[in-house]
Amino acid sequence: MTDLHRLSIRELSEGLKQAQFSSRELTEHYLKRIAKIDPKVKSYVTVTAEQALIEADAADVALKSGHAHALAGIPLAHKDIFCTQGIKTTAGSKMLDNFISPYDATVVAKAKAAGLVTLGKVNMDEFAMGSTSESSYFGATGNPWALDHVPGGSSGGSAAAVAADLAPIATGTDTGGSIRQPASFCGLTGLKPTYGRVSRFGMIAYASSLDQGGPMARSAEDCAYLMNVIAGHDAKDSTSVNKEVDDYVANLNGTAVKGLRIGIPKQYFNVAGLDADVKARVEESLKKLEEMGAILVEIDLNMTEAYVPTYYLIAPAEASSNLSRFDGVRYGYRCENPVDLMDLYKRSRSEGFGAEVQRRILIGTYALSAGYYDAYYVKAQKVRRLIQQDFLKAFENVDVIAAPSAPTTAYKIGANLSPTEMYLGDIYTLAVNLAGLPAINAPVGFDKDSLPVGLQLIGNYWSESQLLSIVHQYQQNTDWHTKRAAIAEENA
Ligand code: GLN
Repeated sequence: MTDLHRLSIRELSEGLKQAQFSSRELTEHYLKRIAKIDPKVKSYVTVTAEQALIEADAADVALKSGHAHALAGIPLAHKDIFCTQGIKTTAGSKMLDNFISPYDATVVAKAKAAGLVTLGKVNMDEFAMGSTSESSYFGATGNPWALDHVPGGSSGGSAAAVAADLAPIATGTDTGGSIRQPASFCGLTGLKPTYGRVSRFGMIAYASSLDQGGPMARSAEDCAYLMNVIAGHDAKDSTSVNKEVDDYVANLNGTAVKGLRIGIPKQYFNVAGLDADVKARVEESLKKLEEMGAILVEIDLNMTEAYVPTYYLIAPAEASSNLSRFDGVRYGYRCENPVDLMDLYKRSRSEGFGAEVQRRILIGTYALSAGYYDAYYVKAQKVRRLIQQDFLKAFENVDVIAAPSAPTTAYKIGANLSPTEMYLGDIYTLAVNLAGLPAINAPVGFDKDSLPVGLQLIGNYWSESQLLSIVHQYQQNTDWHTKRAAIAEENA
């Protein structure tokens, strides 16, 4: 079969169960595509071909026994922030260029236990700091829709791999938009779960109170399948929540939209820098949802202006603390011939971290320093609470909140935005992490340059099933999620 990469997760699962093809054939098919097409896209940092075939053969044995998990034998790619035993985990950094984790992240372990086949590790902004994946030590990844554009970030490799059909699904992480924005830039569906739904154990920390892993795929249904595998309580992550996990696939239904109250925040649609095409596509998608029975309600989210400054204090503060472990002593990059301990620390960190990571360590250290702690960090925490309350108030009157996922479509590679310009591009995604809420991106059309546009729906806590169902129903009534970039049409 030459078109195995066109099948959805449900179709792959059924095909494997009915022995229409084996996991080995499917895995070889993807490995061939990666070998031929990824040199143009550059989504993979590491391809684990040999290991993948071993895993595929094991899945084929399980499938023959008739007791395999629904996803057994299906390949996936992991963001290179999830620790993988025996396989390099770089977090996109020179600091971890040669780091091999002695254990698997819980997300990776769960995927393995379900029989999913790891194709490899995909590119990302260094330590997940960025919105373009250009800050990776391993170089930029191309957007499959236009290779001279970025795939977004920080989970840009995950998005590009799926959009170019170099993996049927991928894991991502979202600290301030890193699943939703690259999903938006690459025309994919991506879910940022409620904080605590997916274990952070073995996921290299950026900002621990904001970090959350989640699925990136072609459709809400595909995301639901991966959520069924990765969600759940984990005793190894003290912030993971011990709450029953939905069956996200079984919960998909065709009745989520009728009578659904969708809040449209006035402030969001007046943001300077909101691209006219993005605005138009998002508004058209809302009109479509209205036709399908949703009720659009104008709401206020008065804290909108505080999102960027609040996040860009809290995230760097936590990052400066989390990244202090990379000191050249225990693991990671170590400078050559240090003259003394101070020199070892200084040069290992200056040489091992890229510019954006160093900028954030400096900002965060400053915000946490004794003299400025109250003025910056404590104040930001108070504003964070106000932002959360703003959402909770809104949810008294609406079921979900609609927004663009990003004010623009994908930037050109090398556009060289200033840090503040780049940070402003995160306006629509940051508050969700600050409040710990779940949110989803769904593709809703293209701009004048044929680059994908995404709609974001923000839900109340633990509403993952609802968000997936809304998008699923939208996708049953539209075909944006079925559009493929030209490069994905290429055969290997
Ligand atoms: N773009 C945001 C940042 O640079 C979000 C990144 C993320 O979610 N990991 O911090």
